Amino acid sequence: MTDSCIFCKIVLNEAKAAIVYHDEQVTAFRDSHPVAPTHLLIVPNKHIESVAALEMEDEQLMGHLFTVARKLAEEEEIAKGGYRLITNSGPNGGQTVFHLHLHLIGGQRMRYPMG
Ligand code: 5GP
Ligand code: ZN
Repeated sequence: MTDSCIFCKIVLNEAKAAIVYHDEQVTAFRDSHPVAPTHLLIVPNKHIESVAALEMEDEQLMGHLFTVARKLAEEEEIAKGGYRLITNSGPNGGQTVFHLHLHLIGGQRMRYPMG
């Protein structure tokens, strides 16, 4: 937990968010500024700044993050049509919240790249 981290606060229920999934390792909630009909953020409960800060010990956790993304895509009924998973790392990657997260985006045809 980092005191100033908004995603840590959401994980701990200290800040409001539309949470759609929570377990002992990860939490998922709706992005406050969705770019598509479905736009979820899936975060490790543990504060990891970005992909650039990953350690070997986080490998299982990262695998779980993707498995949860797959399940949520099915629940959101975007699995059949397809979807995009994004993780931005650092300023040039477009990262603005420095708590690692996967964007699960779908419900429309995406162009590449965005931004
Ligand atoms: P990044 O730019 O770091 O990849 O993505 C950060 C995402 O977090 C953005 O899509 C932004 O809309 C979302 N976001 C930022 N602050 C909040 C918040 O307080 N609540 C929610 N639900 N989403 C947020
Ligand atoms: Zn955090």
